[in-house]
Amino acid sequence: MIPVPFDYAAPTTIGEAVALLERHTSAEILAGGHNLLPAMRLRHIRPTMLIDLARIGDLRGIWRDVRTRSLHIGAMTTYAEIASHRDVRQSYAALAEAALKIGDPQVRHCGTIGGNLAYGAPDADLPAVALALDATITIVGPNRSRTMRADTFFSGAPSDVLAPTEIITSVIFPEAIGRSGSAYEKLRNPASFAPICGVAAFAGSDPDIIRVAVTGATARATRIQVALPDAALDPDDIAAATERAITRLDFISDHFASAEYRAHLTALLTGRALSRAIQRAMAFEDYR
Ligand SMILES: Cc1cc2nc3c(=O)[nH]c(=O)nc-3n(C[C@H](O)[C@H](O)[C@H](O)COP(=O)(O)OP(=O)(O)OC[C@H]3O[C@@H](n4cnc5c(N)ncnc54)[C@H](O)[C@@H]3O)c2cc1C
Repeated sequence: MIPVPFDYAAPTTIGEAVALLERHTSAEILAGGHNLLPAMRLRHIRPTMLIDLARIGDLRGIWRDVRTRSLHIGAMTTYAEIASHRDVRQSYAALAEAALKIGDPQVRHCGTIGGNLAYGAPDADLPAVALALDATITIVGPNRSRTMRADTFFSGAPSDVLAPTEIITSVIFPEAIGRSGSAYEKLRNPASFAPICGVAAFAGSDPDIIRVAVTGATARATRIQVALPDAALDPDDIAAATERAITRLDFISDHFASAEYRAHLTALLTGRALSRAIQRAMAFEDYR
């Protein structure tokens, strides 16, 4: 199928993009296009105007904010740029690993972190990483800019929290204090590359904290509470804590995988992601 006819605008500032969204009520934002364009071709959506964010330089790039001890990633930064960035690979391994496991090279060179979070597909990889790494999402609209923690952003569908005139401008990842490590594990659907189950884990020492989030296996990305005893690296302890943590999850069942299989995968991948995150935290060296 081909999409219905539409107009196209390529603003160069965030303000212009927001003004265009205000003027055109049936507009859609075009980022990497890898969710939007298939949906338009199938006529699931029929926007009459596409607002392409590609020319807005302020939405691209990865930079450290020393003052707030955080890493900022512009919404239009691609998965390939994220996966190859030195700071991301060294301090936010779960994010680098997840970005590298998305789709194929073409998807990784077009798809953006902003589009992945805004579209909020139940089987998107990055929402789990944003939850496990306690990211904050920056949003700009006509009258205000605001920030939202990932756990609030993903408490419902992104369309519930994002107004049609709002744009995600960046995603902020806090720097962990003390020893820390993270990891991402995924079993991909061989047809779509999306996770049948993906698990992001973070382990930090100051304070002692474990954060785990799962995607693909439940109706939306969900944080789970894994309470580990001190002997944290014992595989039996991790397996027992994981089993306790996932009992309340409602696993989805479809023609790719049953709920039982997704529960099994969640336990398995949580164990693997947590073990690697803890090992990284134990071997942590502050390179700055
Ligand atoms: C073959 C294939 C394989 C894929 N494999 C995976 C995979 O393994 N894992 C995975 O997670 N995803 C996968 N995807 C989805 C892909 O990652 C998409 O790129 C992503 O989900 C959407 O990002 P995008 O930049 O392409 O956004 P677009 O498709 O351009 O936009 C999608 C929607 O998000 C909104 N939007 C985009 N950017 C913003 C913004 N800055 N602010 C507010 N709203 C915005 C708009 O409403 C837009 O309509 C795959 C897609 C394909 C086609």
